[in-house]
Amino acid sequence: MSLVKLNVKKGDTVVVLSGKDKGKQGKVVTAMPKKGKVIVEGVNKVKRHTKPNVKAPQGGILVKEAPLHACKVMLVCPACNKPTRVGHKEVNGKNVRVCKKCGEVIDETK
Ligand SMILES: [Zn+2]
Repeated sequence: MSLVKLNVKKGDTVVVLSGKDKGKQGKVVTAMPKKGKVIVEGVNKVKRHTKPNVKAPQGGILVKEAPLHACKVMLVCPACNKPTRVGHKEVNGKNVRVCKKCGEVIDETK
């Protein structure tokens, strides 16, 4: 089974690289490695019309974030606060993610 390796994961702060939300920053709320997509808080919002139901007899408009391709976002390094590519290396026998800009270890990966 081949999993797409995402460079970002849940809880990461990312910046959007393209599209209508270009330049926006937000937190990854859902990572979908199988689809290569992420959902970012406050980014790529879409309106969905909902059918009338008990709670909303008139129907309604639901605004929610739609998934976007992980390649369209870049991690914002928690250490230097800049958008960066993510590097991987081994430190003390553990795989970690590192910031390509400042070299700081971001976190461990499994
Ligand atoms: Zn950094």
